Amino acid sequence: MAAYRGRFAPSPTGPLHAGSLVAALASWLDARAQGGVWLVRIEDVDTPRCPPGMDETILQQLAACGLVSDEPVVWQSQRDDLYQRALDQLIERGHAYPCGCSRKDIEAALQAQGTQRERHHIAVYPGTCRPGRGGLQGKPARAWRLQLPEPGEVAWIDRRLGPQTQNVATEVGDFILKRADGLWAYQLAVVVDDAAQGITHVVRGEDLADNTARQILLQRALGLPTPAWLHTPLVLGANGEKLSKQNGAQPLDLSDPLHALNAAAQSLSLPSQAGSPAAALSHWTGLWPHTTQIP
Ligand code: GLU
Repeated sequence: MAAYRGRFAPSPTGPLHAGSLVAALASWLDARAQGGVWLVRIEDVDTPRCPPGMDETILQQLAACGLVSDEPVVWQSQRDDLYQRALDQLIERGHAYPCGCSRKDIEAALQAQGTQRERHHIAVYPGTCRPGRGGLQGKPARAWRLQLPEPGEVAWIDRRLGPQTQNVATEVGDFILKRADGLWAYQLAVVVDDAAQGITHVVRGEDLADNTARQILLQRALGLPTPAWLHTPLVLGANGEKLSKQNGAQPLDLSDPLHALNAAAQSLSLPSQAGSPAAALSHWTGLWPHTTQIP
């Protein structure tokens, strides 16, 4: 395997837009600058949110920009066995437990313990179904959660954002690995696939940065290596909010891929008419130095 293996891992819930192209281009440039391998992985575990054919649309958009996976594209919806094996391993090692709580149960438990949940913040799971706490207490199992290790504090270095820490225990709690609707959670699928594909460097948008600590804990629980992390700047829309499928970002205009690529290059502080891929690569190399150093 090449020393450097990177990836772009879009969820096909909508077409690529200017924001997602930044992450795609950055991950491609980083892989090329290191003489590494660049992969595309379609993250369609949340099948109900993925309109049919959107995966192909994204692959076509990438190809129009000259971004083509070095190895066959992988679809998460076809990798159930791999995720089940990882969950079984976590259960065997005492790192995962079944949870019977509905959203209402969680809200009620939080209220009872006097924890006010701020609006838009995810509820920190109060640990109701933890084996040592109470377990299922006769409730049917709905989902599977990771039993966080003590302490829940994680530290890592982001190549662009610098040293980071998060206390997963107080900010997130035991998080979901398999959802009540039977679908695999993003955290489990992404960690299993990054390891299965030998990914050494994760380069993705800054909106995903706050998943990193959870993913590091999951990697440790599964005995998997932790890659180096780089979270790229977000593209803001006219309203100053992050450009996203949810706030109506326009799909990439495939009639002018060069224009789209130049705009993406600019978001990455690369000179917009970088001239040639080689020139773009030389600018990229000095930007967020390559490191594999994990604290
Ligand atoms: N599938 C995720 C998304 O499109 C990205 C996952 C990742 O890069 O870790 O938001």
